[in-house]
Amino acid sequence: MYKSSTHQRGQSPISVTTISVIGAGIAGAWQALLFAQAGRNVTLHERSDAAMTQSTSHWAGGMLAPYCEAEGSEPVIVRLGLRSLKLWREYFPETPFNGSLVVAHARDRTDFERFARLTSGYRRLDAPAIAEIEPSLEGRFREGLFYADEGHVEPRKILPELHARIRAAGGQIEFNSEAEPDDIDGTVIDCRGLAARDTQSELRGVKGELILIETDEVELSRPVRLIHPRFPLYVIPRGDHRFMLGATTIETENTGVSVRSALELLGAAYAVHPAFGEARILEFGSGLRPAYPDNLPRIAVNNEKIAVNGLYRHGFLLAPALAELTLGYVERGTIDNEVMQCA
Ligand SMILES: Cc1cc2nc3c(=O)[nH]c(=O)nc-3n(C[C@H](O)[C@H](O)[C@H](O)COP(=O)(O)OP(=O)(O)OC[C@H]3O[C@@H](n4cnc5c(N)ncnc54)[C@H](O)[C@@H]3O)c2cc1C
Repeated sequence: MYKSSTHQRGQSPISVTTISVIGAGIAGAWQALLFAQAGRNVTLHERSDAAMTQSTSHWAGGMLAPYCEAEGSEPVIVRLGLRSLKLWREYFPETPFNGSLVVAHARDRTDFERFARLTSGYRRLDAPAIAEIEPSLEGRFREGLFYADEGHVEPRKILPELHARIRAAGGQIEFNSEAEPDDIDGTVIDCRGLAARDTQSELRGVKGELILIETDEVELSRPVRLIHPRFPLYVIPRGDHRFMLGATTIETENTGVSVRSALELLGAAYAVHPAFGEARILEFGSGLRPAYPDNLPRIAVNNEKIAVNGLYRHGFLLAPALAELTLGYVERGTIDNEVMQCA
């Protein structure tokens, strides 16, 4: 297995105590939190209001699933994802770590076995074992893969919690405050997501669509992924009888939900449980995932300007580990060669 390498610059390259972070999505919020807790004087600028509807993070599933993501991702995603799981547990011990369940219908058996081959960290469940952990799924699937160590967060709840924690640690948050890295003196951590394209032209947006539904006829305790020949579809329980159906991965920057995607997402829910057919649709939505051409995250350091971006499908999974790496660089000059680029 590929091992990452780190090296020390020998001394802390940035000794100032004041840090400005731009963008209060999941990337910027974790950066601001770790720097504020480390005793730095942090100001977090966010162009939208506290509802955060302009961020991609607002639309995300919030799955913390490094084992499942190994199916279609580079080893670095798994490495940073596993580190992030530890940080989520440490900083937010109330995060539900109920695992994830992967199921497939008999016709998709080949894809199910392929998923099993490409991932680790699961145990196989037969039908009674599935019914034991998810009683609503009794009799629905003959086999499942249970990734017991995975977790999930609800983006629209965890972002305000993160913001509150930043303030509690002494950081300031300025909403409705549009800022550009070059207009701020001192150390700036640029977490503007797709809006950072003015300085990082390689960034592109990859659309993800979702549907929020409500029913009290199905109960789930964890995300359920349905193996699908074209893209992973999942149902995430949101509490209050609500479920998020997600998510497409489409190379376009058009926003909105297409009829085809709506059919696929609703069809997947119905395939997980026919009672979803009676659910009420609450919301259709989409977000643009910020991605570099290799779909890998990057911390780009140019003197005191640091850009953290390209979190693509893994913002919630990777943000804590990326914040820890940035802090390690600023405090000790540690460079992770797999993720960091220094000008
Ligand atoms: C449908 C969908 C499902 C997903 N599911 C998952 C999942 O289950 N697990 C997972 O880990 N990831 C998931 N993702 C991916 C995840 O949402 C992204 O990787 C993540 O949100 C990117 O976070 P970010 O902080 O880099 O960008 P953003 O969330 O977009 O935050 C950037 C912020 O910067 C602000 N900003 C921009 N310009 C300025 C400026 N000039 N001044 C001040 N503020 C500015 C914006 O308003 C925004 O709030 C999903 C994405 C989608 C679309």
